[in-house]
Amino acid sequence: MTSHYRNPVVIGAGPTGLSASWKLTELGIDVRLLEKTEKIGGLAQTFRHGDYLFDIGPHIFHTFHAEILSLVKEILGNDLLRYYPKTKIFYKNRFVQYPLSGMKVFTVLPLMMVAPALISFLLARWKLYLSHPREDGSFESWIKSRFGKKLYDVYFAPYAQKVWMMKAAEISKYIAEQKVPELKISDYVRRLFNRPPKKIHGEDASRMEVFYPRKGIGQLTNWLYDKVIEKGGKVDFNVDIHSINGKNSRIESITYRQDDELVTRGTDFVFSTMPLNDLIEILKIKVPRDVREAAEHLGYVSAVLFYLKVNKRKLIDSSWVYFSSPDVWFNRVFDVGAFCEECVPAGKTAYCIEFTCNRGDKIWHAGADELFDHVMQVFERNSIMSRADVEGYTIKKVEHAYPRFKIGFDERVRIILDFLSTIENVFTIGRQGLFCYANVDDALYMGIRAVEMMNLRGDEKLETQRFLLKLDSE
Ligand SMILES: Cc1cc2nc3c(=O)[nH]c(=O)nc-3n(C[C@H](O)[C@H](O)[C@H](O)COP(=O)(O)OP(=O)(O)OC[C@H]3O[C@@H](n4cnc5c(N)ncnc54)[C@H](O)[C@@H]3O)c2cc1C
Repeated sequence: MTSHYRNPVVIGAGPTGLSASWKLTELGIDVRLLEKTEKIGGLAQTFRHGDYLFDIGPHIFHTFHAEILSLVKEILGNDLLRYYPKTKIFYKNRFVQYPLSGMKVFTVLPLMMVAPALISFLLARWKLYLSHPREDGSFESWIKSRFGKKLYDVYFAPYAQKVWMMKAAEISKYIAEQKVPELKISDYVRRLFNRPPKKIHGEDASRMEVFYPRKGIGQLTNWLYDKVIEKGGKVDFNVDIHSINGKNSRIESITYRQDDELVTRGTDFVFSTMPLNDLIEILKIKVPRDVREAAEHLGYVSAVLFYLKVNKRKLIDSSWVYFSSPDVWFNRVFDVGAFCEECVPAGKTAYCIEFTCNRGDKIWHAGADELFDHVMQVFERNSIMSRADVEGYTIKKVEHAYPRFKIGFDERVRIILDFLSTIENVFTIGRQGLFCYANVDDALYMGIRAVEMMNLRGDEKLETQRFLLKLDSE
């Protein structure tokens, strides 16, 4: 591939920005990577805490992109370990196997509720079979028309509201499509006979090849960083971007503060992986009002990750547990040692406990001691573990953990992408940049594909971004 762009800037050193930078250097193009923090890896980083290596919530690696799997196998070699996930949900004081699909859905319910839930499920499925039921684009209507009202009320709605920090009726169906394995009736029957479904859902990790890097996901992003540096790429950390400047539908420079100095750097192409709304805010180019308004209505859910170090190897019989009760402040608990044996000392493990929140709310401001008290109250009340098992704890706050997929977000993203496609030399990519539920494999794919497509203009560019975003697959 040849490119007439010779001076690109990449914004953000997460897996998307790193893979784009790596691909650029592979093509012999000089790249300058600008990162807001002092760390590389974005959400896919590994940090050390005493004898432990922690990811921002364990990062399993699985993919449907064959070329990305080959690349990652080549990069990590023997350090890419097969991992066999065991997922459960904690519901009504019981651990129940997950995903909640097939007839297992009904095993989580109190006995009295099984018959009404089954009737409402079958009724919903019957309606779905006869005709397309009325759906309004919400998580609520999508789930109700596939699982029935009862299961929606007792399980799906409380969990979704807790994770996404909004009413379930306001959540877009995109979440359900991405996260809830939807089986056909024929697949339920196949499951009764222990046969796999015809189509495997991307979230059904029990049916996919799943991997974990030996020393955490940071091994992958560190490798990309090392290669970028080796090939002459430049990376600036602690960068505060003030503006992206241009005229006549063309970006010409970026102004940013670094080490108390204001720098304006000329560029002929920008790959941005920063949050999409932030990008629009700092564009110093004529931006139509509807685009600014669309950006103002996009937002992100934050998270606090609480890491609990314990003196035993196994206290929970699952690598991954979901907590749906609204009384419990956290959503998920991961056994770090079950995912990554070499990330914990011998004979011990740590639990990474995820709280989603809004930046500035009570969870965001809670200190480690307060979260520790809450976690231990829940664990001790349910005989999961006791304070005597604990050796220490720490927390990590993440401002942009999940795009907030509120109904109408896709239309807003379309408006913004339509506008960005009129600027000749900018590509917005990545989980925050395209406002999508991307995993690490998607991030790598996007970074590499965007570089391959950098010469595209207008409609072709727009089509590529939509393709990367997967909005057009609806
Ligand atoms: C709790 C949790 C668990 C996850 N688990 C998994 C998993 O099991 N498997 C999996 O595959 N994926 C998982 N993911 C998703 C995965 O982390 C992301 O898909 C991936 O990191 C996205 O990469 P990215 O580069 O697009 O964005 P990010 O990783 O968010 O990186 C964006 C980078 O841009 C930087 N940046 C932002 N604003 C600016 C600015 N103004 N100027 C300069 N730099 C800026 C940020 O500091 C960051 O370094 C998980 C995510 C979370 C939050």
